[in-house]
Amino acid sequence: MSSKPDLNIGLIGSGFMGKAHVFGYATAQKTFDLPFNLVFHTAADISDQAATRAAAGFGFAHATADWRDMVTNPAIDVVSITAPNALHKEMALAAIAASKHVYCEKPLAPLAVDAREMAEAAETAGVKTQVGFNYLCNPMLQLAREMIEGGELGEIRGYRGLHAEDYMADASGPYTFRHDPAGGGALADIGSHALATAEFLLGPIAEVMGDLATLIPTRPDGYGGTKLIEVDDVARAFLRFENGATGSIEGNWIATGRKMQHDFEVYGSKGALSFSQERLNELHFYDTADAKGRQGFRRIEAAPEHPPYGNFCVAPGHQIGFNDLKAIEVAGFLEAVAGRGPEPFNFRSGLRIQTLVETIQSSSAQRVWKTVAT
Ligand code: NAD
Repeated sequence: MSSKPDLNIGLIGSGFMGKAHVFGYATAQKTFDLPFNLVFHTAADISDQAATRAAAGFGFAHATADWRDMVTNPAIDVVSITAPNALHKEMALAAIAASKHVYCEKPLAPLAVDAREMAEAAETAGVKTQVGFNYLCNPMLQLAREMIEGGELGEIRGYRGLHAEDYMADASGPYTFRHDPAGGGALADIGSHALATAEFLLGPIAEVMGDLATLIPTRPDGYGGTKLIEVDDVARAFLRFENGATGSIEGNWIATGRKMQHDFEVYGSKGALSFSQERLNELHFYDTADAKGRQGFRRIEAAPEHPPYGNFCVAPGHQIGFNDLKAIEVAGFLEAVAGRGPEPFNFRSGLRIQTLVETIQSSSAQRVWKTVAT
């Protein structure tokens, strides 16, 4: 029997991210010295059948087709929201009103004004929050940030970031919640990850010039007809950072052949970094101090020296995976819930990403550079 207090988890949605949250909680419990004993209390989904299947498969004690019943249940301590984007706000506000801590998938809300309402509600209620920007939890990104902040790259001059996949490249693929103008678009869906990583590494983005495009204008609606697509398939933005560096990001869900190209390059006066999420245990470092004729990007492999890699594996180079990033995210969030640390990426941070997304969208629509509100 654990002497730690129980923390009862409620999960909304049991698709791709619902499973990732369950992996995250389960792995975090075994990998970190968490302040709680995690209890998989209730799984909620859109129907009794889906909820019951999720509860049985993931090990939850209860199932419900009404997420409202779950979030108002006094037994629940933490609510994980992994439902479609347009539902995040209503679900999160209901959970916050019931004094639950909330772990919500990105994008926090379709509109910055909604994200602001959510952040302010959480702060007023005094509950802890987390948004699912899991790529930031990679020990290799932490290392990159330390190297930048520690001056190993010298003066930072340039940044190139992108998040490209091809899950929307097939034009015969149906309309999904990701195409809903009230919560979709490649920039909001995955460009948001590229923006989060850019600011994680280089600090605040001051100005943007966006270019959004819809390349597949209609899709099957699933009922024999077609539906007009109003959101972007590809989004690019030029960036000017507060620290003087310039750069760009791209969010692209029709990048044929790309499955998880969450990549970046950072260029400094003394060195450079290169990273690809498709090889997430490697960071490549170019050092201008290397002898001429011996220069080149060297590969640094994830190792116990890059916390918290060592919590997963004692041996270097054996690698961690996508779901392990979720476990790191969970561990940081629960430290904050216990009052033992700051919230790693709370609703206020999620609002910041929505602000960037909207500024790029309006820059693209008006074809002008825009200053990002602080
Ligand atoms: P999904 O379609 O696989 O799962 C969505 C789940 O929500 C399904 O189980 C569905 O039945 C359920 N659902 C829908 N309406 C509901 C309702 N009214 N009540 C209860 N449950 C409902 O989608 P997904 O890929 O898991 O995406 C879910 C969220 O996760 C999105 O916001 C998406 O942006 C985010 N996401 C994040 C990452 C990441 O890396 N952080 C990756 C993929 C998706």
